[in-house]
Amino acid sequence: MSDLVSVLGLDRTVPWMAPDAPTALCGEVDPELWFPEKGGSTVDCKRLCRECPLRRACLAWALAHPRETRHGVWGGLSERERSALRRRRAATKTAVAADELSEVA
Ligand code: SF4
Repeated sequence: MSDLVSVLGLDRTVPWMAPDAPTALCGEVDPELWFPEKGGSTVDCKRLCRECPLRRACLAWALAHPRETRHGVWGGLSERERSALRRRRAATKTAVAADELSEVA
């Protein structure tokens, strides 16, 4: 996926750009697999993501950069799945903050 970095205009903080980063599995096969046509299958790329040593870092980066990653599978999750995860995390943070406020009130 490193050639996609320049195509998509991504910055150099993406996990697989670190000098000591393990090899991203998406860099070893056709990167188009991670950007299927609408309705296309994501089964194969998600399977590879599950085996990728960069999965956690990749997903964390994608969650922190929604504008740059609004298309395709990143860290094993589709755009829709990442959006759902962001919403769940935001809801959890809100609930935790509300609990903390109620404890000091
Ligand atoms: S987790 Fe998936 S999208 Fe991310 S670097 Fe690995 S293979 Fe590529």
